[in-house]
Amino acid sequence: MPDDMVDAHLRGVNHALAAGWRVLERGGLALDAVEEAVVIMEDDETFDAGRGSFLNRDGRVQLDALIMDGSTLRAGGVGCVERLRNPIRAARKILSESPHVYFVGEGAEKFAAEHGVPLCKNEDLVIPREVERLRKYQAELAQRDTKQDGNDLFASDSVANDSDETISHDTVGAVALDRNGNMAAATSTGGTLNKAPGRLGDSSLIGCGCYADDESAAASTTGWGEPIMKLVLAKWTADRIAAGNLPEWSAQEAMNYLKQRVNGHGGIIVLNTAGHIGIAHNTPRMAWAYKTVKKQEAGIVRE
Ligand code: ASP
Repeated sequence: MPDDMVDAHLRGVNHALAAGWRVLERGGLALDAVEEAVVIMEDDETFDAGRGSFLNRDGRVQLDALIMDGSTLRAGGVGCVERLRNPIRAARKILSESPHVYFVGEGAEKFAAEHGVPLCKNEDLVIPREVERLRKYQAELAQRDTKQDGNDLFASDSVANDSDETISHDTVGAVALDRNGNMAAATSTGGTLNKAPGRLGDSSLIGCGCYADDESAAASTTGWGEPIMKLVLAKWTADRIAAGNLPEWSAQEAMNYLKQRVNGHGGIIVLNTAGHIGIAHNTPRMAWAYKTVKKQEAGIVRE
């Protein structure tokens, strides 16, 4: 997160927090709270979700999202959708109104439209900042390619390291616990910059980018998706909490595990049924915010 984007990120997570809290305060469901919080961040161009997302190799926005209800273990996910401003709304419809858990591509868009979620044009999701970011990134790749042996895949790998300032991860997520003791989690993303069309990340995969179970924890992750999905990281963290570890500790452990086991980078927010929270990242920054009946805080670094 570059310095000039810090304020926008803090504003964004605080708006999302307020939207989620409004639901909880009037006695609403954790599931509704995480949906409303994520919608706010999908609508905010600051983040890599909804409009303003990173572009794929073809210059298109391709979105993934998942929402999960910890009380029933029902989940709804969409992958590689191109015509939804708010993929989390479609995911919620899948959770609530479909016997299935997951829809991708055109089928997901068709399902959404049939269930009252409006479709848009892909161009409506693309903003100039991202067109420029992709242009710069691809130009850099092409330059490295000519210096190396022209192998696209390995060239991309060499660009994608932690020190490269063009690489950031800006997926959005929310976890909540309502007054009935139910938890929910939601995650939404445009995925990684310059990804291949059809590439699906961790964010919308159950247990990888998102997980909720009232018997353990609600978790949402961000970061480089391929390593995260190999470790099924959200479920891994929830399992440690089910085994009696505190969320704060488990979140930190998850980041250590991600780094040590697969050299991954990212962040996680996690919550247990007692309302204890865990926030951790092994990137320099990650915007976060939380609120309980007693306390409210936000930041871009979690020590
Ligand atoms: N995890 C996302 C993905 O790999 C990217 C991100 O978190 O920004 O698709």
